[in-house]
Amino acid sequence: MQSSELHPLLDIFESRLGKLGLICDPAGKAIYESSARHGQGSGCAVVRPTTREELRWVVEQLVAADAPFVVQGAASGLVSGATPSSTGAQWIISTQRLRQTLDLDVNNRTATVSAGYRLSDLNRAAAVHGLCFPIDLGADPTIGGMVATNTGGARLVRYGGVRENLLDVSAVVTRGHSAPACIVGGQRALRKNNTGLSWSQLLCGTFGAFGIVTDATLKLHALARQTATALLAIEKAADAIDLLVSLEKDLGEFVSAFEGISRNALVAVLRHGVQSPFEKAPPYAVLLELTSTLSSRQLDLDLQLTDWLGEQLENGLVQDAVVGKPEQLWRIRHSISEAV
Ligand SMILES: Cc1cc2nc3c(=O)[nH]c(=O)nc-3n(C[C@H](O)[C@H](O)[C@H](O)COP(=O)(O)OP(=O)(O)OC[C@H]3O[C@@H](n4cnc5c(N)ncnc54)[C@H](O)[C@@H]3O)c2cc1C
Repeated sequence: MQSSELHPLLDIFESRLGKLGLICDPAGKAIYESSARHGQGSGCAVVRPTTREELRWVVEQLVAADAPFVVQGAASGLVSGATPSSTGAQWIISTQRLRQTLDLDVNNRTATVSAGYRLSDLNRAAAVHGLCFPIDLGADPTIGGMVATNTGGARLVRYGGVRENLLDVSAVVTRGHSAPACIVGGQRALRKNNTGLSWSQLLCGTFGAFGIVTDATLKLHALARQTATALLAIEKAADAIDLLVSLEKDLGEFVSAFEGISRNALVAVLRHGVQSPFEKAPPYAVLLELTSTLSSRQLDLDLQLTDWLGEQLENGLVQDAVVGKPEQLWRIRHSISEAV
């Protein structure tokens, strides 16, 4: 059977995007039809544009044909927003191949990145210059998906989420059936920009409701030169607040992570093969991290952390603590989502 007999748009898409730009066979479509945790749907076909202009054109064709679609990055979202419905009528627009631009401005500490790049791609490129995009989580999402979901991650306490680090976006937006789709926004790497309405504020955290992100201009940060990590065993979640207040008072500018972990979450992680740092799982745990761009000769973070911890053990807010072993401790944090 000709693909045009299945849907007239299939031939149109294949002729412009080529064979790699379109996936129609059930085996090829399967990985696009489910997400990281929830959701199993059925898509009409997967369309994979490689440029902003191709994406704009694809959206225009779909809107004109009244064909419903869902946008998908790495499908690591936890609420199946990128998964097609079960009707088989929705098209899946994958941003996987949208990788036109990965430009770093090292002196300005910014990067302009196409939506299809992964967080790990950006961080690999930035690390070469002693920089990073500091949103850290147990998945490797696309930049477009991160903007759409305003991804937070474990270092939110220091750096904020995507919104706090987003300077500009470009996006494809539609204006109804009869008007052409267009590309809006830009790539201005300004910390303060009052030149007009902010597309980045509208598009960040709104799950693609107002447009499809094609590029994001992001703030980068200096990589830390030293890190001190600890996992604390405490009696109850409320004590974590007192600890955070005390930590921020004493060492605030160095706090880069402070993550509460319930006993249930910790037990779930340990049940899935991660080694326990404590003999017995405590009622509540806190993973904390201090980082600094100062060298340990200028300031010894481990010493600062153990001094502060000594006081907390003495005043009874902390029952037990494991210091160091950052890989093992972060593995616990990053396994929670999957384990739970
Ligand atoms: C193990 C694990 C740990 C996680 N930890 C955290 C965490 O600590 N903090 C946190 O905030 N999140 C966390 N997440 C979820 C996180 O939000 C997603 O991983 C990620 O941000 C979504 O990016 P994605 O590329 O996978 O997007 P997808 O899952 O593909 O899509 C997510 C949504 O964005 C839309 N979308 C995708 N791309 C675009 C685009 N270019 N333009 C417009 N809309 C688009 C989709 O339609 C969908 O609605 C975790 C997920 C996993 C699996």
